[in-house]
Amino acid sequence: MQLLLKGGRLIDPPTGRDEVLDLLISNGQIERIGKSLAASTAQIIELKGKIIAPGFIDMHVHFREPGFEYKESIASGCEAAAAGGFTAVCCMPNTDPPIDDESLVHFILGRARIALDGLVDVHPIGAVTAGRKGEHLAPLAELAAAGVVGFSDDGEPVHDAELMRRALEYSAMFKKPIIQHAQEPTLTRGGVANEGYPSASLGLLPMPRIAEEIMVARDIRLAEYTGGQYHVAHVSVAETLDHIRAAKSKGLPVTCEVTPHHFTLIDEVLASFDTNTKMSPPLRTRDDIEALKAGLKEGIIDAIATDHAPHSYDEKEVEFAQAPFGVIGLETALGLAVTELVRKNVISLPQLVEKCSTNPRRILHLPPITIAEGEQANLTIFDPTAEWTVDPSLFKSRARNTPFGGFKLVGKPVGILNNGKVYWC
Ligand SMILES: [Zn+2]
Ligand SMILES: [Zn+2]
Repeated sequence: MQLLLKGGRLIDPPTGRDEVLDLLISNGQIERIGKSLAASTAQIIELKGKIIAPGFIDMHVHFREPGFEYKESIASGCEAAAAGGFTAVCCMPNTDPPIDDESLVHFILGRARIALDGLVDVHPIGAVTAGRKGEHLAPLAELAAAGVVGFSDDGEPVHDAELMRRALEYSAMFKKPIIQHAQEPTLTRGGVANEGYPSASLGLLPMPRIAEEIMVARDIRLAEYTGGQYHVAHVSVAETLDHIRAAKSKGLPVTCEVTPHHFTLIDEVLASFDTNTKMSPPLRTRDDIEALKAGLKEGIIDAIATDHAPHSYDEKEVEFAQAPFGVIGLETALGLAVTELVRKNVISLPQLVEKCSTNPRRILHLPPITIAEGEQANLTIFDPTAEWTVDPSLFKSRARNTPFGGFKLVGKPVGILNNGKVYWC
């Protein structure tokens, strides 16, 4: 099977290439790159005005299998990923049972191979502690050998400093990051919203911003002490970035990601009492959004990740305090990133590609994707000017818990190519 991608703008940060070129793909491999290519047997796809980039990876999703398939299965999650323009995802281990031994890793990889015929690469993240209970370490060597790309107890922080120290020591040995849901839990007990005027006026128990900052500060010292690799999931407050900036300036292997909901929404939207605005960490303030955008621009924030967290309608259709944390994000991420970041001149399109592909792959020690002749085609194609309105009823995800229904966005995925397969969004 041959595909001729005509007239797209090829943005390939690993080689610095950024120009309008044609790509001839044969059986999943990039055969030729050039101007005015022709191939009589190929299917021709006109991509004028569209971007062709190395495949996007979402390094932070929750697919609920095993245990909670009614929220999302690996198959439905992979469809949501493909529809959102991602050729790869990393799934967090807070399943039931949690991903804390090699049999679970093999199970996830096996399910991913049959979902959409293996179109989307699913990279499991192993638990840091057995059962994610925070009491003793999971078998990290066994998990690393089975193929996890990192370790996290996400949903909960690794609170115990001794366990974090040991985990970081192993991370240096196995070359896998420890990914922290940074929250000092004794400061956020019972909390459901950012500590501030909105939470106080609505009578919602607070999650103070310092809970995130001090956990990151502690962990960075431990990373420095042990030589371990440390990654902060979903940064949400300005002060966290100061610690990460300082760590980077010392040359420490410390990185972080931000979610589209944290750079788009502020805690004032809680006045709607919409449980689809409840997530952990919570939505913060306008000043935080400005700091997160500055962090993206400056390069302090390495990656954009969704923290895609599906829940059923019934679970979210309760009082705010009772609702589970989390929102879905795979199918709105690209639109929000283009609308909020590229259109508002926070970052350029090549920088967006870096934060959705190049950087997260580097953090996870995955082989870089390059768009070059002879390489496998692992591509995300998107239209940076397409305008659309978010309609959750059209999502491929099994869940609908998004705060972005009705949002008018610019930037839409067009299709992905991966593992010899093609998917048009
Ligand atoms: Zn988390
Ligand atoms: Zn998460």
